[in-house]
Amino acid sequence: MTLDEIQGQNHAIGLLRRAIANGRLAHAFVFAGPAGVGKRATALAIARSVLCPEKPGVGCGSCIDCRLVGAGSHPDLFIEDLAAAQAERATASMLSIEQIRRVCGSLALRPVRGSAKVGIVDQAERLTAEAQNALLKTLEEPRGRATLVLVTSNLDGLLPTIRSRCQRLLFAPLADALVATLLEREGVAADLARRAAALAGGSLDRARELTSEEGWARCEDLRSRLERVDRLGVPERLDLAAELSPRGERNRTQQALTTATVLELFRDQMVAAARDAGPAAGPDGDYDRLAAARRAHRRLAKVYASVRDVERNANANLAWDKLLLGLGDLRA
Ligand SMILES: [Zn+2]
Repeated sequence: MTLDEIQGQNHAIGLLRRAIANGRLAHAFVFAGPAGVGKRATALAIARSVLCPEKPGVGCGSCIDCRLVGAGSHPDLFIEDLAAAQAERATASMLSIEQIRRVCGSLALRPVRGSAKVGIVDQAERLTAEAQNALLKTLEEPRGRATLVLVTSNLDGLLPTIRSRCQRLLFAPLADALVATLLEREGVAADLARRAAALAGGSLDRARELTSEEGWARCEDLRSRLERVDRLGVPERLDLAAELSPRGERNRTQQALTTATVLELFRDQMVAAARDAGPAAGPDGDYDRLAAARRAHRRLAKVYASVRDVERNANANLAWDKLLLGLGDLRA
């Protein structure tokens, strides 16, 4: 993908295009924003724009340099991420200091094919403090035409000394309509694309996951079991809570889909209860229906609080346990 083809990030792309056109591309960036909104694709598009000899400043997308960038094997492009860490050590959950030394060392050398070099560190929030400190020298003493892009979905995971030495670009969640359009372009049926986009919180990756047969079936199954939560005893609730918690780090997308599904269900229930209660708030109202609407409202508040805990990386297991057991208190 070239910079022109990145969608839904006009602010970031406009800024980068102007900087490249003026020959003033920063030596170091932090791309921050939710997962699956085009941060890494934009970092790769920068690589194309500075390494492509056919359409300099933009990238043609089809010459040998652009294709090497796409394959991640251009000799002037260096990418490090968690997958690379796990290729070296299967159980790795953080990027290693060796990876950072590799990128920094490579950026300091002369370009092989072109006149510039690009380094990308994805999931930069998974750099240890030691690894981040190893980055400082490169950030403080940039050499030649080298650009380093740190990509992260959690800006707070980076040390202040790192953040202050990089130009920060914030990437927004994508609009639901854009996510749906992009899914349709990939061959997803319009109806499924629309529903998946509504659940995906502006992340194309999550939406894609949802449209996979397995992802969609899991969400539907979860929803139907949560709808019956009032009828479940304590052991079944704890089982269900355990299923809501992801096992292992690679399940971040799955966790996001789970919380989106939980929120969607309880929001739907509250909207339905409020509609049922209608103008019942008046003196002639149906107090049972009004009480049901209030209950649905309180329930949604609890759900929001739990989701917030999960998203703040509190103990997810505990947060879901608390929620599912707590919902029982509200049984009519
Ligand atoms: Zn090209």
